[in-house]
Amino acid sequence: MRADRNAGMVHERMHWKGENGMEDQGVRKCPECGISVPDDVIQCPECGYPLRGTVTSKKSFLQLPSRTRKMLGVVLCVLAFASAIVGVTQMTSKEYRISVENYEYCVEKRDEVSDLADSYKSGFFKDSYEDLAEMWQDSADEQMAIIKSCRSKAIVFCVIGIVLFFFGVKFLIGGI
Ligand SMILES: [Zn+2]
Repeated sequence: MRADRNAGMVHERMHWKGENGMEDQGVRKCPECGISVPDDVIQCPECGYPLRGTVTSKKSFLQLPSRTRKMLGVVLCVLAFASAIVGVTQMTSKEYRISVENYEYCVEKRDEVSDLADSYKSGFFKDSYEDLAEMWQDSADEQMAIIKSCRSKAIVFCVIGIVLFFFGVKFLIGGI
């Protein structure tokens, strides 16, 4: 009895494929188990996956079994989380905090020597203090470059995290 039914199923499945083994126009793959089923079937005969209203090959560019999709979704969400952490770490790192402190210190020193330079009308002291102010300004610029690079990295990693999370959730809830 069971052998008969299996034989019938195999026969039907072979019938759905074209003579040369290629898929016909009216045939699509079950997204759950991957077997070929006719377009008009509402439920997969192999695994019972509901097919009515699910995407056809034209709408979906990724026809993956749901287990693969869910796994991809989980992996993408984990990567998204990791990327977000790396992004946030850029702004909370010791390097970033030290650069901010150094920058503030350099700006403070620059203003100090600038005021001193301004207190002289001309001459050796004015020139010296102006040189010093320039030196502090250069140091401040260097620190600002580090700060800006940390901020850009933070933004990039957070954006990557958001994108990965978006696709991860899409995979998990079946949007793709
Ligand atoms: Zn199936």
